[in-house]
Amino acid sequence: MSDCLFCKIANREIPSKKVYEDERIYAFEDIAPKAPTHVLLIPKKHIARLSDVGAPDAPLLGELLLCAAGIAREKGLAHYRLALNNGEGAGQSVFHVHFHLLGGRAFAWPPG
Ligand code: 5GP
Ligand code: ZN
Repeated sequence: MSDCLFCKIANREIPSKKVYEDERIYAFEDIAPKAPTHVLLIPKKHIARLSDVGAPDAPLLGELLLCAAGIAREKGLAHYRLALNNGEGAGQSVFHVHFHLLGGRAFAWPPG
């Protein structure tokens, strides 16, 4: 989508610090990290929010989870949190679906 920040990041129209990339996924460092490790994982395909996905997206969602686990393993994170904000009321500010991979500190539960 032409007017989407994360599509522009995936297309290299806007620079980012790449962590991982394959045909369907791009992962990069969050510009305002909330933990020592804060990686964003996005599908290259534009999907605005999780509530927009359908059954055909199941493999892509699975790949994103596997990718997050792989990055966490590579970074040697003993524990980590994977978060996805769906909708403004849940804290979503960029409307291109993304997982936050947070690590390197303790996390409270429930989140605020
Ligand atoms: P959300 O609030 O939608 O769940 O998460 C959006 C995330 O994108 C935030 O953690 C924010 O810091 C990050 N972000 C916003 N703009 C940019 C940017 O231009 N580059 C990078 N790398 N991260 C961004
Ligand atoms: Zn997008």
